[in-house]
Amino acid sequence: MKAVILSQHGGPEVLRLAEMPEPAIGDRDVLVRVRACALNHLDLFVRGGLPGRSIAFPHIPGSDISGEVAKVGAAVTNVKAGDRVLLAPGVSCGQCEPCIAGHDNFCADYVLFGRQIHGGYAEFVRSPSVNVIPIPGNLSFEEAAAVPLVFLTAWHMLFNRARLRPAENVLVIAGGSGVGSAAIQIAKAAGARVIATASSEAKLAKAKQLGADDAVLHGGEFARDVKKLTGGKGVDVVFEHVGAATWEQSVFSLKPGGRLVTCGATTGFESKININYLFGRQLSILGSFMGEKSELFAALELFKRGLLKPVIDTVLPLERAADAHRRLENREQFGKVVLSVS
Ligand code: ZN
Repeated sequence: MKAVILSQHGGPEVLRLAEMPEPAIGDRDVLVRVRACALNHLDLFVRGGLPGRSIAFPHIPGSDISGEVAKVGAAVTNVKAGDRVLLAPGVSCGQCEPCIAGHDNFCADYVLFGRQIHGGYAEFVRSPSVNVIPIPGNLSFEEAAAVPLVFLTAWHMLFNRARLRPAENVLVIAGGSGVGSAAIQIAKAAGARVIATASSEAKLAKAKQLGADDAVLHGGEFARDVKKLTGGKGVDVVFEHVGAATWEQSVFSLKPGGRLVTCGATTGFESKININYLFGRQLSILGSFMGEKSELFAALELFKRGLLKPVIDTVLPLERAADAHRRLENREQFGKVVLSVS
C-alpha cells in the first residue's frame, strides 16, 4: 500500500511517499481503508522527535483517521465491511483497572495511532474493533477526521479536569488551533462565556464567527484585556496548550479560585510560576492528556445534534503531507489541516 512514512526525524522534508505492506489483522481487529487523516501538533513532535520518546522506523504518522471498513476479524461484530467510520485515537489494553473503570487514558499501555503505532498517512490502517466508531450524521470523511483528537482532548480538559459550569468565563488560548476551535464550541455549548485569543485580527474574527463572545490578540500582555472584559476579575477557567509563550499571561488571566487546564506546550515546556500568586489567589493548575473514550461518544452526540461542527482549514492530498506540516508549523491555519487519501 501507499503510505507517507518517516525513516528518520527531521524537518517536513523527511516525510516520504513509500510502499508499505498492507497491515495483517487479528480476530478483534478491523482493517480500515483510510479516506482522510487530520494533522495535530503531535504529528510535528513525532516527525521532529522528542527526547526520551523513541519510535521504530519506518513509521507511519497520523492520529486522526476516518475511512471505510475494508475487512473485519472473525470476532468483530460492531462494524462490517463498507461502514463509514472514524477511529478513537487512543488504543488501550481494555483489561486493566483504569480501563475497566473507563479511564482508558490512564492505561499503562495507552498508545496513539501515529505515535507509538502506525497511523493514518496511508491507504490502510489496522485498528482494534473497539476503536472503530460510525461517523455521526452526514459528516464527510475530511470532516470526520477533523474531530476525534481535538474534541476528545478539549472535552476532557473542560469537563473532566476543569469542571466547567454554565455561565462561567473561559479563556481559550489560541482559538484558531485545532484544539482551540474545539474548545470554543464545547464551552459555548455548555453555556459558558468564551474569550478567545489569537495571533492576528483575521483569526480573531474567525474565532468570533465560531462562537467566541470576545477575542483578544495574544502577542503581548493579554491578561490586561481579559481583566477588562471581565469587569476586572479575570476568568474562571483558562484553556492552555501553547505553553512558554503564553503561560504567565494565562496565569494572570485567572480570577481568584480560577483553574488553568493544559494539554500541551507547543512553544516550549519550561515556564515560571509565582508560588505566592498561586496560593494567595487559590489557583488550580490542572494537567490533562487525551480523554476517556466515553467522552468522545458524548462529543459525537453533539455533532449529531448539530451543536458542534468540524473546523477545516485546508484539505491536501496525502502526497503533500510535507506542505501540510509546514502550514501547521508556521501557524498559518485556522482549524484543522486534513490529508485526503484517494
Ligand atoms: Zn488498560
